[in-house]
Amino acid sequence: MNMMALRTGDDIIVIDCGLMFPEQELLGVDIVIPDITYLKQHKHMVRAIVLTHAHEDHIGAIPYILGDLNVPVYGTQFTLALVRKKLEEHGLLESAKLNEVQPGQITSLGPFTIEYLHVTHSTIDCVALAIRTPVGVVIHTGDFKIDPTPVDGKPFDLHAFARYGAEGVLALFSDSTNVERPGFTPSEKAVVVRLEELFRGAPEKIVVSCFSSSVHRVQQVINIARTVGRKVAFVGRSMVDNVEIAHGLNKLHIPDGSVIRPQDIRGFEPKKLVVLASGTQAEPMSALSRIAVDNHRLLSLGENDTVILSSRIIPGNEKAIYRMIDHLFRRRVLVYYEGSRSAPIHVSGHGSQEEMKILLQLVKPKYFIPVHGEFRQMFQHAALAAQVGAVGGQVFLLESGTPVEFTADGGAYKREPVTAGRVCVDSGSLEEIADVVIRDRRHLSEDGVVVPIIAIDKHTGLLGASPEIVTRGFLPNDDGNEILTKAREVILRTVEQSSPEEKMDWSVIKEKIRIDLKRFLNKQTAKRPLILPVILEV
Ligand SMILES: [Zn+2]
Ligand SMILES: [Zn+2]
Repeated sequence: MNMMALRTGDDIIVIDCGLMFPEQELLGVDIVIPDITYLKQHKHMVRAIVLTHAHEDHIGAIPYILGDLNVPVYGTQFTLALVRKKLEEHGLLESAKLNEVQPGQITSLGPFTIEYLHVTHSTIDCVALAIRTPVGVVIHTGDFKIDPTPVDGKPFDLHAFARYGAEGVLALFSDSTNVERPGFTPSEKAVVVRLEELFRGAPEKIVVSCFSSSVHRVQQVINIARTVGRKVAFVGRSMVDNVEIAHGLNKLHIPDGSVIRPQDIRGFEPKKLVVLASGTQAEPMSALSRIAVDNHRLLSLGENDTVILSSRIIPGNEKAIYRMIDHLFRRRVLVYYEGSRSAPIHVSGHGSQEEMKILLQLVKPKYFIPVHGEFRQMFQHAALAAQVGAVGGQVFLLESGTPVEFTADGGAYKREPVTAGRVCVDSGSLEEIADVVIRDRRHLSEDGVVVPIIAIDKHTGLLGASPEIVTRGFLPNDDGNEILTKAREVILRTVEQSSPEEKMDWSVIKEKIRIDLKRFLNKQTAKRPLILPVILEV
């Protein structure tokens, strides 16, 4: 959920607008977007949203935010192409104001002047931002690694960073993702050797799965397939879409005659075929997940077919991914994945320690603020900066929502936090999910549900019969029956101790029963099932 706001006087620009896929404890939540309360409170000041690159954690929330805040959006060609697709799906493209920029270009937004500096990363068209403000230059790296041999031949613009470093930079905000890795992240080209070896050794057809936004990786697979005399097919919606977009923008080079149509896969000579499929993280409906359980209409895998997972196993997804890999092994497929063999079939898109040091040395900022990482990573990035000694002034470790104010006399101060955080969205309904809904779902998943059913005579207010209690997923320890018997007594007592008026008002009596029963069950079982009293009129 990357999002940062830069404000001077009455002008604000917003850098990136990402979404996050929820952790498991957010049950039934599809996506998580940033809380933009602060921006809504200062709506008239927001001049633009400026994007660094096309990854979901940087652009994913745009369709959800533009509804509240329809400001101009700035980004490079590929970034905006993906944004356009999202806005189209949400029916927002008509009203959006998209402005395409090139690396090296300079745009003015109110008091801010922004230069877009080309950086290398796992997708294409990525930029860092050098923002001239009334109190000095602020550099935001976006996501980066320093790849000396990029696949598209477009290098990391070290010169521009050095130029700003020589001029003097007030503050550097830098990507902390890989701070725990020593050395340099290998170049994207490092995967070629191993992939080519696997391609040459594969006895039958090959399926390669990578992130569909990893245009460099897709390009390399196309190139290697050509080298070894295989044709390529694309499978999976996001893969097909992104290949189409990148190819349409001339950012992906597909030689004539090197691709076959998905519907021709089944009839095609397996020894001459490479299929690029989406679904590296074993997303439930993805192409690779379906292929793994032999439930894909376009292809089936069996003995001696090869699957290469050319991607990272994102923490939190391990179980699903290994389950998918197990299915593939059951089909006797040869599976290659991160950590399973020596030479890399995947390299990271984020720079390691040495690249972070180079950047710090080039920029030599007065103030340094690690961003894009868990707190432990930002903490270690701060320590790394101290070790390098390139930061003239202070290093700030910030929690989300904590502003830093840079003053005209060169000072920098932490200020009182503003509202920031997450908003959960159910993408089916596009509606925000209140915290209370998530809490209910958690209680349901952990402690089940208890439904007391009470029959009340509408006229006399007396209980028609002894209360019934239905439970699902609720295990009241060993002495279940005894606890439920006592729970009935609790309900009886609650009803008896209520006034006739309360008994006539069902919402009141329901709530009283819920509270008393909750207290009782929690005390007896230390559990918090969802309690849903039902009242029958007799
Ligand atoms: Zn990224
Ligand atoms: Zn990112």
